[in-house]
This record gives sequence, C-alpha cells and structure tokens, in this order.
Amino acid sequence: MKNCLFEDFASLVFSPSLMKERVSADVYELFEKALKNEAQLDLSTANKIALAMKEWAMEKGCTHYAHWFLPLTGISAEKHEAFISRDKDHQPITEFSGKSLIKGESDASSLPSGGLRETFEARGYNYWDLTSPAFIRENVLCIPSVFVSFNGEALDKKYPLLKSIDVLSKQSVALLNILGYKDVSSITPVLGLEQEYFLVDRPLYKQRLDLQITGRTLFGAPTLKGQELNDHYYGTIPTRVIAFMKEVDEELWKLGIYAQTEHNEAAPCQFELAPLFDNVNISIDQNQIIMDVLKRVAYKHGYACLLHEKPFDKINGSGKHNNYSLVSNTGINLFDPGSTKEERGRFLIFSACFISAIASYSEQIVLACSSAANDYRLGANEAPPAVISVYMGDTIQSTLAMLADEKLDDAKHKGAMYGLSYVPKDTADRNRTSPIAFTGNKFELRSLGSSMSASFLDVVLNTALAEKIEEACEYLKDKKDTFKAAVEYAQELLEKSSAILFDGDCYSAKWRAEAKKRGLTIINSSIEACHYADDEKASRLYNKYGIFNDTELKAHKGVLIDQYIKYTALEAKTMRKMVNNEIIPYIIEDINICANSFSTSAHLLKRLEKLENLLDDIGTKNDELEECLLKLNQKYKGEKLALAYRKEIIPLMKELRTYLDAYEQIASAAVYKLPTYDRLLV
Ligand code: ADP
Ligand code: MG
Repeated sequence: MKNCLFEDFASLVFSPSLMKERVSADVYELFEKALKNEAQLDLSTANKIALAMKEWAMEKGCTHYAHWFLPLTGISAEKHEAFISRDKDHQPITEFSGKSLIKGESDASSLPSGGLRETFEARGYNYWDLTSPAFIRENVLCIPSVFVSFNGEALDKKYPLLKSIDVLSKQSVALLNILGYKDVSSITPVLGLEQEYFLVDRPLYKQRLDLQITGRTLFGAPTLKGQELNDHYYGTIPTRVIAFMKEVDEELWKLGIYAQTEHNEAAPCQFELAPLFDNVNISIDQNQIIMDVLKRVAYKHGYACLLHEKPFDKINGSGKHNNYSLVSNTGINLFDPGSTKEERGRFLIFSACFISAIASYSEQIVLACSSAANDYRLGANEAPPAVISVYMGDTIQSTLAMLADEKLDDAKHKGAMYGLSYVPKDTADRNRTSPIAFTGNKFELRSLGSSMSASFLDVVLNTALAEKIEEACEYLKDKKDTFKAAVEYAQELLEKSSAILFDGDCYSAKWRAEAKKRGLTIINSSIEACHYADDEKASRLYNKYGIFNDTELKAHKGVLIDQYIKYTALEAKTMRKMVNNEIIPYIIEDINICANSFSTSAHLLKRLEKLENLLDDIGTKNDELEECLLKLNQKYKGEKLALAYRKEIIPLMKELRTYLDAYEQIASAAVYKLPTYDRLLV
C-alpha cells in the first residue's frame, strides 16, 4: 500500500512499471527482452518507447532531453537537446525519435580520454543504458547512457561496469549450477554506498578561495574544539541541517532513491547519507545524483556542501563506503553465512573467492580508490591505510567448525547475546580500522573517497571475483561430491590468501611492519598506484574478460596522471595567490599596528619580531613554491612530473602551511579576514 509520505516516490522516474503502463504489451515485451540481452531493440519499438517517454516528460514540464553519462572526470555529464523540430511548413513541433533515444552523439572533445580520441576521431557516442531508468532533473529528461569512442573504446565509467556485471553473473551462475542450484539463471552484484559530506555556511565558503577552487582548506589552524569530545558523532542534528536533510530526502525519493540513513559523522559539521542498496549500476548512477542533489539543496539552504575527501586538517575526512554483496535471481545473498550446512558451504566458497580476488588484485583496489584528494585522507588515523587487508572476524572459523561438526548445531557456533537470549549474536563484529570488513552478509570497502565514483572499484571487484569463480568452476566441474570438493577448495584458497586476512588494528605502525613481512603491497600515494594501472597483471585480467583492452588501460593511466598534475598544480597556485594577495598584506598590516604603537612593552617588541620572522618565512617559502613549480614543469612531463610534484611540491606546501597556521594563531582578529576553522566548523 502506498504511504502518504511516499506519494511522490519515483514520480520523476520513467521506471519499467511506468513504461508498462504507457506502452502496448507487445512493445513492453520487446523492451524486456532487450533488457535481458535476449533481443535487439528494433527502431519501431524504440520509436514507441521514445514517444511515451517524451509525452510523460512533457506532462512533467520537460522541454529537453539529455544523454546523461559518467565520463572519466568522475562527474556526471549531459548535453541538453530540446524536444523541438520543424515540420514541412516550418512550424515548430515536438520530436523525440527512437534513434535519438538509443544513440546520442556528443563532440565532448574536451572531456578526458587519455589520448583515445585526440588525433583522427573526436566523436564520442552515447548509447542508452536500458538497465538504469530515465529520470527528470529540472526541465530535462535524463537518459543514463554509456559513452564510447568511434572505435567502441570506453570513455566512461559505466560501460566497463556493465560488462563486468555480465561477466560476474555468468561465472557465478556456472558455479551455482555446479553446486546444484539449477534454477539460478543470473546473479546481480548489489551495492549500498554511504556518502559522507561536510556542510559549511555559504557566505563563509565564498570568502575562501581555496575552498571554492580546490574543495579544501589549504591551510588553517586547528579548531579549539575539534572532535576530541566525540560529541558530534550521532549527536542531535541541528534544526537547520534537519531542514536541509528533509529537502534532500524529498528530492531523492521523487527520483526513486531510497534515501534511508542519515546522521552526524565524527567531525564537526560532517554528516552521512546512506540509501538502501540496489543493483551496482543503479546504485552508482544514484550516487552521482545524490552528490548533485546534496550540492544543489545545500545552496538553497545557505550552505556549501563539501564532498572533498579532506576539507580540513586534523579532523576526519570524508569517505564513501562501498557495501557489496551478490544476490541471485532466486533471492539468495551469496555472502550470507546462512544457518544450514549447505548454506555455510556456499558462503565459504563465494567468500573464499572474494578474499582470494582481493589478495590477487589488491593493487587494483588501491588504484580504484586513489586520487590526489584522497591521498590527504587515506592512511591518516581515521581512514584505512594503503595496505589492503580483509577483516573476517570469527565467521570463517565458525563456518569451518560448523562444517566439520557431525551434528548440525548452529546455535553453538553463533551464540546469543548475554542476558538477551532472544537476540542472536552478530556473526561479524566491526573493525573500523580495516579497509575491507565482512559485516554479516556483505563486504564493506572503506577506502573510496567521498567525491569519487565507485565505478572502477566495483569493476575491479566484479572482474577479479569472476576470475576466481571461474577457476573454482574449472576445479569442481568433474568432481563427484561437489559440495565436499568446494569446501576443500575454499579452505585451500583461504590458506593461500591468508596474508591478506588481518583482524587487528590497521592504523598501528606494527601492522605496517607486519604487512611488509607478509609481502603485501604497500602503496603510499595515488601516483604510486598509477604505476599498476596498465601492468601485466591488470592487462591479463581485463583483456581476458573484455573489460578493458591495453589501449584503454594506457588511456586511463594517462587520465589519472594528468588529473594528479592538474589538481596539485591548482592547489599550489591557489595557495600562492592567497598568500600573496591576502596573507602577506595581513601580516604587513599587523606589523604596522605594532610598529606604529607608542608602547615600548617588551611583549610588543616580541610580537613584532615574531610577525617579521613569519613574514620572511612565509615570503621565502612562497617564492620557493613558485620557483619549484616552474623548474619541475620545465624539466619533466607525464608520470615523472607527477612524481616530482609528489616529492617536492607537496612537502613545500606542507611547510608553508605550518608558517601560515602559526600566523593565524597570533593574527589580529580585526586584520585576519579569512574565515578560520573556528568560524567554519560551528
Ligand atoms: P554502517 O553501520 O556501516 O554505517 P549504514 O546503515 O550507514 O551502515 O550503511 C550500510 C549500507 O549498506 C546501506 O546502504 C545498506 O543499504 C547497505 N546494505 C545493507 N545490506 C546490504 C547487502 N546485503 N549488500 C549490499 N549492501 C547492503
Ligand atoms: Mg554508515
């Protein structure tokens, strides 16, 4: 039954059920076949669907449509086309053909392609993604689409994802069939993305060039009251924020997004929103929409929504937790440990494949979570370090114990809460320090940055897991007792991957040393991660399943490096400009106040000396930063330039920051006009 709270739910979505209402039964049947990849969508059917879509969209006030896609920038893109044309008498008519629905052509030559479309062919094409429903934003009907080059190479984050879902489904079905689940014909990776963000007052945000240009504060002394009292996390949400969240929820519900969980996060002014999990492709599309809605609604409420991974130093940054599991068309969650032996065996083999996939391709996981911005967050005391490990709690042990038990006694292995005998004990405890934690019936990956698309991370998971499942099928296909063989195979796999399993504190220095001993790859920065983007292992895996070819891998690497260089240079330039135009004049003004005073107090002289020293230090470091940028840009290009930035520019910015923060601590309130952390984070 429809609840009045949700009367508008999905009112802005052209869902399959709405399509069913608005087209004839045979048209819908053909659409469903195309959706299942069983038939092509012929033009006449597409025309009828397009007409239904146009009519619905125009009833809702739309004047335009757009192929909405996810280029390699990680931010959604769209080119609006009006539903307008002219008839033979030169009169305006509305038009939207099946051809325009299925395929859009965008020049989009300025979007990053890593050289895939530089020389002979600038055209890019959008193809309608039937699996993600069209939706309305403002006056535009947005049609989720893939974006490919003239040669069919992926220029986006959706096409590889769709391919990886298909590959994983095929392999998982094969394994389930071998294990006796003959009725399973498809599986879907499902995903719940938790989105963290900060809200700051917009007028204050507008006074800081660094926040506006780079998304983070490049300097700023710590707040007097940070998160040390732990009073913000899960605390009462301020009334103004509640009003903001209410509008966000209403917008998202209209867009068919099950926005469900919201709360204060650990840092002051930090919040989280988690929608209900869905098919990985839809979840990722919806996450892009969520980020967009958060920004727009914040604007209306006088806030700026910061999605940057580390907007403020010394307090937590923001991530995007990737909760991942696999669900069959018959409704089985393959990561659910279950309660019977059969279920436990199934869980064991799928989890072992997952763990083995992580162990074999940990570098690809790090890479997919890497960006210049996320470098400031990862490895700090709040976010997973750059060593990938998996936390399983005691689930594996209890599963093995149960499988070895002659008499089935699940309760013995699961237990109950002390004093609350009706509450079964959770099968998996939490380990907040682990980059990948098993949380009961799903794996939660915590390294992804808040502003990033989850797409490539899930492409890695889907593809690597598909490979491990295929290997398991290969082993099991002619075994007599497949269940027993599967349990043995899983145990062997877990043993081989045991180095990646770690239940302790991943933030500790001890773990880093231990990880090194275990031979795990330690990657300290996003630019180091780029090194693995097109290595032999990645190339073999992705080529095998047709996810990326070598040209695409090289191109993606090029885009990552290019983004790193541009982003770091932008930060350095913004910092210099703020120092030259704002901070240095403030210090001079502060010096003048002291110098013009008639007082001869020793304290005044000391203050003057301090200010003069800071002026010299800041001026010198700022000049050094400028010279260093110039020198490196002349000397290096590409990956070498990026590595040199990492080695020289970033430490210089850090040094400069210490002087700037020291000045802020003593600056006159009347002189220092930039909003400080104390003003921003209230
Ligand atoms: P946490 O306690 O980790 O902060 P949240 O409730 O904030 O948890 O978010 C958990 C996310 O995981 C939600 O998006 C939720 O829908 C999703 N989720 C729950 N179960 C599954 C599952 N089986 N597979 C994938 N995602 C799931
Ligand atoms: Mg959460």
